[in-house]
Amino acid sequence: MSEKTIIIIGGGIAGLSAGCYGQMNGFRTRIFEMHKKPGGLCTSWKRQGYVVDGCIHWLVGSRPGSGFHRIWQDLGALVNKTIIDHEEFGRIEAADGKTFIVHSNIDKLEKHMQEIAPEDGRVIAEFISAIRRCTRYEPPLEKAAEVSGLLDLLRIVFTKFPLLRMLWKWNKVSLRDFGLRFKNPLLRESFPLMFVPDFPMSFILLTFAWMHNRMAGYPLGGSLEFSRSIEKRYAALGGEAIYKARVAKVLTEEGRAVGIRLADGTEHKADYVISAADGHATIFELLGGKYLDDTIRDYYETLIPFPAVVYVALGVDRIFDDLPSSTGGMAIMLQKPVMIGGKVQSYLKAHIFNFDPGLAPAGRTLITVMIHTDFDYWQDLRVHEVQYRAEKEKVADTVIAILDKRFPGLAKQVEMRDVATPTTFVRYTGNWKGSFEGWQVTPKTWRFGRLMRKTLPGLANFYMAGHWVEPGGGLPAVAMSGRNVVQIICKKEKKKFSTTK
Ligand SMILES: Cc1cc2nc3c(=O)[nH]c(=O)nc-3n(C[C@H](O)[C@H](O)[C@H](O)COP(=O)(O)OP(=O)(O)OC[C@H]3O[C@@H](n4cnc5c(N)ncnc54)[C@H](O)[C@@H]3O)c2cc1C
Repeated sequence: MSEKTIIIIGGGIAGLSAGCYGQMNGFRTRIFEMHKKPGGLCTSWKRQGYVVDGCIHWLVGSRPGSGFHRIWQDLGALVNKTIIDHEEFGRIEAADGKTFIVHSNIDKLEKHMQEIAPEDGRVIAEFISAIRRCTRYEPPLEKAAEVSGLLDLLRIVFTKFPLLRMLWKWNKVSLRDFGLRFKNPLLRESFPLMFVPDFPMSFILLTFAWMHNRMAGYPLGGSLEFSRSIEKRYAALGGEAIYKARVAKVLTEEGRAVGIRLADGTEHKADYVISAADGHATIFELLGGKYLDDTIRDYYETLIPFPAVVYVALGVDRIFDDLPSSTGGMAIMLQKPVMIGGKVQSYLKAHIFNFDPGLAPAGRTLITVMIHTDFDYWQDLRVHEVQYRAEKEKVADTVIAILDKRFPGLAKQVEMRDVATPTTFVRYTGNWKGSFEGWQVTPKTWRFGRLMRKTLPGLANFYMAGHWVEPGGGLPAVAMSGRNVVQIICKKEKKKFSTTK
């Protein structure tokens, strides 16, 4: 029997993962990527001697001991990589000078929280105890839910029931709402700043548990290097990645996907098509909105994408060796809120890469600032080139002024500035509304663990992978998504799924 073929749209982490697992399972795969390099959102770019890192703050599965690590091993993602495990998740500095240090070690975190807020002893104890329980949690990753049977489900329920029940409870509480349980003003204001405020607490519990276990570190070299390692593995497995190849249409015949047409008009045929590109564009543009039902329509009408971001990068001629390295950076609460990029901001989160010398020339440091913003504001501005550029400069000036207050003298040390707006993200990755991680998971719209469909009604041999079908997104979820789609295809082909070649 000749090899079956798979075309993959998009060479982000989901697409690369689908490609690698496809090759491991005897399919002949090709990835068509519109950009000139792999990785999608998991990328970096060079500016005036600096490498601006555009993605990885923490990588779940960075060390052996978790199922996610096995996936990174299969994908060759961490070959020859040094992992940094930060002592701090981050710190929140209030306008009155008080600081909440979010230690990665749970014992240190508990002690510190009790010291700064003895009045909240009960809430702190409940929070810390939940993280401790999560340190024993290992998500069931081996088998995609779509190929699991009743027995698999029962096995999960029996072995993980108490923890799942606990996580279920925390799923219903957002970071913002949990913050309100504290009497202490600093802790009250800090929780919503730890990630996206409406995210469920279960996410933070699991993240902190992984941090404590030193399983969510940072691979030195940054995001593009990480993506390139997977690209290398894909090539070694015999896969073919074609760059600067924008897919304009998914070709269908009698309710079956049969290939793609590129923007240059060329057509390519395959037995299966996997789209690991933006979900909205795939369904409504590449497939012309023909394969829809109420469920799929509902996703795009009611779910909330992650916010769009303005991403400011600064190269500064100084080092920060007095600051401990951290995962999420330093949130500086502002005395007076400021308008940045059409939105009022009450804090600024600076990620100081004092731990990765590969991103800056010797004696210098890369700082990035990620600001949640309004997509429409930037989209409207984009058509007026002069105003758009002026607004980008204004954003950089405002950020520099705030950082200069915190680190006196910094303004004069800035030698590189780069501002990426939501329209930049759309141009380079096609993500709908500039979302940086697909769909948000919130207690009101979607819960962790709930499944989203990876197929479309009335269209056979077509699958979707990536953060538009894995609410909550993130690198481990999308890598798993690519793996899961290949498992589904293997089941259809009556092949045993394999992770070696
Ligand atoms: C600033 C930032 C920080 C982040 N931090 C973290 C973190 O610390 N940890 C973490 O786990 N996650 C993080 N994420 C999220 C993570 O990067 C994403 O969830 C993940 O990379 C999404 O991967 P994907 O393959 O699903 O999609 P994408 O990365 O969007 O890949 C889709 C690919 O499809 C291509 N494409 C689109 N349309 C077409 C077309 N028509 N034809 C051909 N190709 C096409 C795009 O060019 C792109 O390469 C962060 C994201 C951002 C932006």
